[in-house]
Amino acid sequence: MAQSISSTTIGFPRIGKNREAKKALESYWKGDNSLESLQKTFSDLQVEAWQLQKSAGIQLIGLDGTMYDQILDWVHTMGIIPPRFAGLEGVQRYFAMARGFEDKLAMDMSKFFDTNYHYLVPELDELSEPKPNFDWFLAKVEAGIKTVGEAAVPILVGPNTLIGLGKGKADKAALVKKLVPHYKTLLEKLKGLGVKEVQLHEPILVTPGANKYQASVTESVTELTKVGLPINLVTYYDDIGETYSWVVKLPVQAVTLDFAGVPGSAVPCATLDLIQKHGFPSDKRLNAGIIDGRSVWADTGVASAIVGNLVNAGVKSLGITSSTTLQHLPIDKSLEKKLPEHITGRLAFAVQKLDEIVQTAQMAAKLSPGDAKLPTVGNPVANLDKGLFSRPSTFKERRSSQIKTRAFPTTTIGSFPQTTEIRRARLAHKNGKLSDSEYEKQVNEYMQFAIKEQEKLDIDVLVHGEPERSDMVEYFGQKLDGFCFTEHGWVQSYGSRYVRPPVIYGDVKRQSAMTVKEFKYAQDLTKRPVKGMLTGPVTILNWSFPRKDITRQAQAFQIALALREEVADLEKAGCRVIQVDEPALREGLPLKTDRWQPYLAWAVEAFRLSTAVAQNHTQIVTHLCYSDFADILEAIDGLDADVLTIENSRSGNEMVTALAEYKYSRDIGPGVYDVHSPIVPTAKFMGDKIKSFMDTGILAGNAEYIWVNPDCGLKTREWKQVLPSLENMVSAASNMRQSL
Ligand code: GLN
Ligand code: ZN
Repeated sequence: MAQSISSTTIGFPRIGKNREAKKALESYWKGDNSLESLQKTFSDLQVEAWQLQKSAGIQLIGLDGTMYDQILDWVHTMGIIPPRFAGLEGVQRYFAMARGFEDKLAMDMSKFFDTNYHYLVPELDELSEPKPNFDWFLAKVEAGIKTVGEAAVPILVGPNTLIGLGKGKADKAALVKKLVPHYKTLLEKLKGLGVKEVQLHEPILVTPGANKYQASVTESVTELTKVGLPINLVTYYDDIGETYSWVVKLPVQAVTLDFAGVPGSAVPCATLDLIQKHGFPSDKRLNAGIIDGRSVWADTGVASAIVGNLVNAGVKSLGITSSTTLQHLPIDKSLEKKLPEHITGRLAFAVQKLDEIVQTAQMAAKLSPGDAKLPTVGNPVANLDKGLFSRPSTFKERRSSQIKTRAFPTTTIGSFPQTTEIRRARLAHKNGKLSDSEYEKQVNEYMQFAIKEQEKLDIDVLVHGEPERSDMVEYFGQKLDGFCFTEHGWVQSYGSRYVRPPVIYGDVKRQSAMTVKEFKYAQDLTKRPVKGMLTGPVTILNWSFPRKDITRQAQAFQIALALREEVADLEKAGCRVIQVDEPALREGLPLKTDRWQPYLAWAVEAFRLSTAVAQNHTQIVTHLCYSDFADILEAIDGLDADVLTIENSRSGNEMVTALAEYKYSRDIGPGVYDVHSPIVPTAKFMGDKIKSFMDTGILAGNAEYIWVNPDCGLKTREWKQVLPSLENMVSAASNMRQSL
């Protein structure tokens, strides 16, 4: 390509290299930090991020930055404020919407598309007139212009995405219409500030059924272009699929498309195919999202191959950017001092992705049509024998040889309070300040207490309490080959909450038993069965950064094979009940519903691969946590778990009812109380819950198959809440037993 190729960013981490945003927010909320100092922290962070992008050579810098959440920012900017916040203003109202204030409940939070980021859900119920307030936004843009001059590109969350992500009774299309004049006014103001281009982010266009937005998007975009400010219509989180043919014809200057899709997905992103098949109009710039914004790995020649293909496909005007906003990546790998060079050499965090964008743009400028082939994604799990995926007998045949249960057997989900003492001991051990034997002694004392208390409470199936685990994925990642841990690799989950996912960098293998020591210690203290406690393969994968050179399926199978060895070892050590938690099973669902089946197929297989080694007499339990699975019941059934424990308090029997209708026939343990509340639930409250399960007709009322347990693990609670709650739970079960 003879002409020059632009480099663009469409979003960048806003939390700071040292988590400055979190620290500033938390001390402001506590009252230890003034508003001025909070605002200064955020404007400094933004300026720093924009300067970084400028010095990397990015030509069109998307002006990202938020104090809490970008969707909340647009709720504020466009003035679609839920009525209960009417009496409040400014920053106080902003944080009230995010976190609640006095009797005003916070807005709901929801997963942002298929990412692990959570946004605040716009409420569109009783919405009257939008009352925009552009002050904050314009101030940010002015600061951007001051910092990077002509490179400053304001980012607007488009009206269709803003409203499309909302909930409530309002007519969404009518609402978008109402907002368009306000967006126009804003564009006029931006034009007045002298910006050269704006980004209109409409990721809603990649969701299934997005053709329904055609009229609304066409109308709003056409209207906005009348301002005469060039618009880059930005999409991400996958290809735009069915909407491609009309989206590329919209009267905008540039369209940004995602070429990477979901990292490691078995179904590749179709953007390149769409362009090769339908062409790309020569009157606009294709802003190609080639640098993978969701993978921590450096580009492996994919970028140059894609560019080659685009040149071959006759694309006339090209820009290079990341496939998604870079907000889902850790900020800078150069902060990592403890990782081996063979790993850091291959990593690329947000700062390194900037260099990749710029280098790809420079390379593209020199390319001429020729042969370009994309590297294919490998699958290095040897052909696995079919038999590995199935237990020796069916559930009916297995059940009679498993532990005998009375009606309404009681248990818990695994973790008990993470006390200050046990946290302190773990940290001291990690830092080498507490010897192995001294640490082990403390863990053992914890288990002695936990087992004794559970016996006193008369719980049927006991747990060791997970005192040795800081986190259900990290614990296993640290014991398995193929995982590494960063020191500074934080990414925003929501607001001031960040996570630091492990990175899978190589083939996953188990060195030696990971949980058998604690299990044995706990089991030796009691005659009652103690559960073995493992995190499932799909959850370990979904809460880590996966490799990019092999599929997610292959990685899940590798993890599953390692867990399979653990299941076998637990069984050998005398464990009769093994729980394999899969709280993140649903999180991995692709955005596009036609890709659910392939995902669920391998996710279910991975679970079975890890558990099917168990003999008939071993009871396999799974815990799915706070996830709605009414629409994936077949997959849940396919797990072939002997016991299914689920959250139930918040969702009000929805899942139990769905399972009853489905005629689910294995044991279930719907939670009888919410573990997030410090309130001690009464026996009557929980007894009524159990009755309500029976009323759904689940398991034809066979009380031996209906387990009584809390919604989830109890690690965030204190013993003084846990013990009376469990006492009441056990009474509720016993009262129910007597009433039979
Ligand atoms: N066994 C884990 C615990 O009890 C399960 C946690 C989860 O579902 N997220 O903490
Ligand atoms: Zn849970």
